[in-house]
Amino acid sequence: MGRDRNRAPPDWRKLMTPPTATSSSDTMNADTVFALRDFHAFEAFGARFLYMVPSAGIFRMDECGSAILDALESGPLSQDDLVETLQGLFDTDRTLETMAELKEIRAIGGPDAPKEEAPKDLPPADFPLNTMVLNVTNKCNLACTYCYEYGEDKIIDTQYGKQPKFMSEDTAEESVEFLLKQSGDQPRAHMTFFGGETLLNFPVLQKTVAYARRRAAEERKTISFSLTTNATLLKPEIIQWLP
Ligand code: SF4
Repeated sequence: MGRDRNRAPPDWRKLMTPPTATSSSDTMNADTVFALRDFHAFEAFGARFLYMVPSAGIFRMDECGSAILDALESGPLSQDDLVETLQGLFDTDRTLETMAELKEIRAIGGPDAPKEEAPKDLPPADFPLNTMVLNVTNKCNLACTYCYEYGEDKIIDTQYGKQPKFMSEDTAEESVEFLLKQSGDQPRAHMTFFGGETLLNFPVLQKTVAYARRRAAEERKTISFSLTTNATLLKPEIIQWLP
């Protein structure tokens, strides 16, 4: 926070803006007492950022903003005390301006300021599922260095081969039933096959698509499909099967 007086602040200084802002310096005077409010501080790229609760705004702190927050770590201070503490580091105008900005984003405020509650909006009650992603295998015939399946982000942990690498036909059919049931009154559902290399589990793909089409028709729904593949295993019989 605070302003570099020689140049305009960079665009990324304020990454997000809180939905509302309160008054600033007009309600401050020498006796106004400030305390830290509700935020999570974190560091990135050598800078200090505040994630504001509950507005979800993210702000980058400059030296003056950081110094004010540090000064308030040990407890509430009046505006005058803060200015005095930072004297010699920043001029008074800059300190006051930064305090006003910190107050505006609600990083600091009166010690008795009520805690802000996150909005209690609940998701709509009727929230049918109409798309499902089936991870039919985590095995692949390639080994791309950037692949999530070979890193921390892997979707399925086979525990060094103890767990199956391919989805079974039974599990796929159970998944179809789950999708159709959870889609409620929606007339359409969609299923995506994902991997690993999905075509390594081609027999289950074929059977699952046939099963899902039949069951969707019985439920008077339509179902569509998509799959992710590296395309290296496309053979004439598979190409013919693809719609
Ligand atoms: S083709 Fe896809 S699944 Fe296979 S190793 Fe490469 S990124 Fe991973």
